[in-house]
Amino acid sequence: MNIYDLTIEELKDYFLDNGDKKYYADELFSWLYSREKRITSFNDASNIKKEVRERLSRDFSISNIEVVTVERAKDVSKYLFKLNDKEHIEAVLMNHDYGNSLCISSQVGCNMGCKFCESGRRKKVRNLTTGEMVEQILKVENESNLRISHVVIMGIGEPFDNYDNICNFIRIINHPKGLNIGSRHITVSTCGLVPKILEFSEFPYQVNLAISLHAPNDELRREIMPIAKVYPLKDLINAIKIYLEKTNRRVTFEYIMLDGVNDSVDNALELAHLLKGINSYVNLIPYNETEALQFKRSKPLTIAKFYDILKKNNITVTIRREFGGTISAACGQLRSKKEDL
Ligand code: SAH
Repeated sequence: MNIYDLTIEELKDYFLDNGDKKYYADELFSWLYSREKRITSFNDASNIKKEVRERLSRDFSISNIEVVTVERAKDVSKYLFKLNDKEHIEAVLMNHDYGNSLCISSQVGCNMGCKFCESGRRKKVRNLTTGEMVEQILKVENESNLRISHVVIMGIGEPFDNYDNICNFIRIINHPKGLNIGSRHITVSTCGLVPKILEFSEFPYQVNLAISLHAPNDELRREIMPIAKVYPLKDLINAIKIYLEKTNRRVTFEYIMLDGVNDSVDNALELAHLLKGINSYVNLIPYNETEALQFKRSKPLTIAKFYDILKKNNITVTIRREFGGTISAACGQLRSKKEDL
């Protein structure tokens, strides 16, 4: 088992089950996560008894992913990782004025099949473990010598298709003795798995939820996002309303701007109508074109017009700042290059 899979509570149980003091969990967390320590061998956890360290070494692995390549451009670095079973995943580091944000992967491949998305060209092979997600942050911090202040789960995979591991991931990175990343600095993005949105409304952490909407009506959404065949917009919006009521938070709607597909004046009006009265904001994302897929990004003028219509209709809207166009930073592009898909 990967030591980074365990929350501090699970680690306490582990120590208690073995007849050890449960405060070892606090100490071990500090060895694993505090920036001054970050041990790579249990042997280095010097204030923990030798026999306990030996048992830890037998029971747990401590390094499960490795950095294969880093591609850098201004304010953005893309990491390609190799997992123990030789699969590849990616993470993207973005340097903002407010801090450093890391976009992590949640699965190897993805089953959601969104037509415009590079990641989905490879079906899901497996979920990432909690630890493999935690280690993406640790490895990037080590390599870059920066502190990651913000985490978005928007890399390869559908996080709500890996729900339990995502929840434990949040518990670990948010914990003051873990990576201490503020819950408001953590964002989970989903293509809209309705039952999980409802479940997440009971999850007692104030993290942000982003919904990949990308279309203002079911007909168009079904064409580009197969998940819309399972959960029509009515159900999705309903679940979001329940989520908002229970959490008192605001959701983000992501809307990729695809030339001639979802970027017309009518689409903008329809979107404004759909989101009326919902405590949310819309993030318009200029599409990152990718070789194997035929979609094109909307013209800057079309994006500006779309933005204006939403604004005029009292929808809070931003256009996403772009990172990484030159280094294949769109989801899944780096892995595809590596695996020659
Ligand atoms: N499966 C989750 C999270 C991963 S995708 C989800 O669907 O939200 C993260 C975001 O990137 C989604 O909004 C996705 O639709 C978007 N995306 C995928 N391919 C893209 C591309 N080529 N350019 C811009 N955004 C893209």
